Amino acid sequence: MSASDAVTDSLNRLRAEFRDLPGGKPADYIPQLGLADPEAFGLALVSMDGHCYSAGEADVPFTIQSVSKPFIYALALSLLGLDEVSRWVGAEPSGDAFNAISLEPGTGRPANAMVNAGAIVTTALIPDAPDEPAFERILHCLGRFAGRELEVDEEVFTSEATTGDRNRALAYLIRSTGTMPVDPVLAVDRYFRQCAVRVTALDLATMAATLAYGGFNPVTREQVVSAEVTSRVLAVMATCGMYDGSGEWLLRIGLPAKSGVSGGLIAVGPARFGLATYSPPLDAAGNSVRGQAALRALSERYGLHLMLNP
Ligand code: GLN
Repeated sequence: MSASDAVTDSLNRLRAEFRDLPGGKPADYIPQLGLADPEAFGLALVSMDGHCYSAGEADVPFTIQSVSKPFIYALALSLLGLDEVSRWVGAEPSGDAFNAISLEPGTGRPANAMVNAGAIVTTALIPDAPDEPAFERILHCLGRFAGRELEVDEEVFTSEATTGDRNRALAYLIRSTGTMPVDPVLAVDRYFRQCAVRVTALDLATMAATLAYGGFNPVTREQVVSAEVTSRVLAVMATCGMYDGSGEWLLRIGLPAKSGVSGGLIAVGPARFGLATYSPPLDAAGNSVRGQAALRALSERYGLHLMLNP
């Protein structure tokens, strides 16, 4: 068997092993997400030479949700630099749920860019360019990471926009502490749109591979952001990417990762690979049950934990 057949084979085997894993349910606080097929289970891996491997429903579109957060943090860091971004949003694990109504005591900043509060501020930090409004910049940036043009799922956007009072409340709370760079209504609208961008597991694996390769997309061979920026993003993903499951995740799986409520999950093997899974049933922390199980098995079997000496 060739090396590339072996990768596809492992992904297929993982899928078969975990496809019937019980537990969890698709998010439905955004009503449109509750319509997802709970059986869909896609896995994808993109290597540093730009090879794409996949198993199951890796071409099924779903909305990116919070998996967008590290990429927009990367965009903000590229445009404004770490010191400026850090005035607005911190880099400490919050130990709270993704949608917690909590800001850092003292500074009033959101704890980090991976929880909703921090992501809303990060998105709000992206300035309009003379020839490109901020949201177009965000969409274009996600597309450069994915290696293709992406679009917004208007139904999911409307579904979240009409039910997203908690995020709206968060945005107003942030403004009250002086750490909201634009009007809260505008910030949340932009953030909901960003979360509603449609991707597949293969897109997410390419995006993760671009982070793994120092900001260089191995499929399109375009430098999307700098290696310095990706090092910062991966650091925050490692400590905060799985919300209040982040410590346990780093302990057991040992890879920077980011989850989203539609069931997407990425993990990054720096200088090695980008991985993504799609499976909608979520655990109590809002992370995909099957996705986590498959990535954990993969990490243990192939010794992928970053702190493991070869
Ligand atoms: N759009 C979702 C929200 O703000 C994203 C949350 C997530 O994916 N964890 O609630």
